[in-house]
Amino acid sequence: MTTDVGRDEMTDRELAELIELLRGLIRIKSVNPPGDEILVARYLEQVFADEGIPATVVEPFPGRGSIVARVHGDGAPKGGGGDPLLLLSHLDVVPAEPASWKHDPFGGDLADGYVWGRGAVDMKSMVAMEVQVMRRLARAAREAGRNPATDPIPGLRRDVIFCSTADEEAGGWQGAGWLVDNHPDWLRAAGALNEAGGMAMTYGGVRFYPIQVAEKGFVVYKLHVKGRWGHGSVPTPDNAAVLAARIVARLAEPGPVRLTQAIGVSLARAVPHLTVRAVAAIAALAPAAVAGAAATPSAAVDPARVEAALRELCDPILARTVSAMIHDTISVGIIRAGVKYNVIPGVAEIEIDCRTLPGTDEPAMLEELHRRIGDELWARIEVECEQIGSAVQAPLDSPLYRLLEKVVVDHDARGVPVPFLAPFATDAKHLARIGVPTYGFSPLKTGSGDGLLELMHGDDERVSVDALRFGLPVLWDAVTRFCA
Ligand SMILES: [Zn+2]
Repeated sequence: MTTDVGRDEMTDRELAELIELLRGLIRIKSVNPPGDEILVARYLEQVFADEGIPATVVEPFPGRGSIVARVHGDGAPKGGGGDPLLLLSHLDVVPAEPASWKHDPFGGDLADGYVWGRGAVDMKSMVAMEVQVMRRLARAAREAGRNPATDPIPGLRRDVIFCSTADEEAGGWQGAGWLVDNHPDWLRAAGALNEAGGMAMTYGGVRFYPIQVAEKGFVVYKLHVKGRWGHGSVPTPDNAAVLAARIVARLAEPGPVRLTQAIGVSLARAVPHLTVRAVAAIAALAPAAVAGAAATPSAAVDPARVEAALRELCDPILARTVSAMIHDTISVGIIRAGVKYNVIPGVAEIEIDCRTLPGTDEPAMLEELHRRIGDELWARIEVECEQIGSAVQAPLDSPLYRLLEKVVVDHDARGVPVPFLAPFATDAKHLARIGVPTYGFSPLKTGSGDGLLELMHGDDERVSVDALRFGLPVLWDAVTRFCA
């Protein structure tokens, strides 16, 4: 499909421009905490100004900057062009320990065909690609003699909004959360494209493109364990540390398996491309998927059998990730007990991080906690709920999602797009509060050795030049075809 703005190929000059933008972003340290995203926001404000695109930078908390910019279609908002498309991203990154890196994590080195640095994958590469899409749109307007600040972009019916936020790595409340609470109209859109999907993953020789349609929610609990204080010379089963240890051991057991819509559909899509051995293992988990139908939303299967199948079929990192996608998980983060070696602790505290699948609400998670801990130990604790975030699920039958799958295949005829549930939370949870469905789609085609799961938040985070060369035209197509 061609539009006035349609342009599939990226010239070497534009690729160089994209790479320089990414390197510039990596060099501005925006480690959260403390964040300092305002420095990146100001940098991007200048990049947009150079293209004639007005941008708004907000700094609701010192140093915590987010940036929003918009270009116009000719049909929006009321002319029948449809609601805008939102290009969402975050400006902050997680910390990096330079001693264990081959390159300076904040140097933005270009070496061996890769751009190296914290944020190369999560997610300054997507920020750079989204900015580049905005640049292209503005340039198309200027080439047509129009002002990108006020005039419609040639060929565009919908508006395109760019929003890159502070604080995503710590929950997003000072970034996307604040924007949703204070300026929801800036972000209202038919849909958003965000991180955590669209990156190729090769399995069994097949390139899958997981597109994130859902993400898990979270509940943080503090368990107050009640024992009885005593003298260490006379041990007792009422020792709160011992009770806590028994509780922790029970929480470590994997709970029941549950397939959500995203994973069920994904399995059904993957089956025709997998080996006989892999299909046999999936049959144990989701018989319907093997029959070519989306697996049922819930399947009564033996958790131990599923874990064994995952270990057989996947490398350890992938097995853990997939396991997290089919369980409400419980991770023990903190255990506190005791004041002195010879004093039997009368109280203990356990803090746990529960990650909930779409369909599991907080009362259901609490019930599951009770089931795992058992009545006898349950009677010894008081449960305090410290934080709740709901799981989110965007529709799979929306025009935007269907287009994303089509665009992937148009650019990689052998690629297999599949819907995907992220086991972690992103800013999609904030957009869901104003009804904006968010799809994880930061397209990068990766080769062997580019294990993105390890690189996100890991040492030697890097993105290949080839991945970017593939990614920008895919993102461009998705944006212009949806908005045309
Ligand atoms: Zn991220």
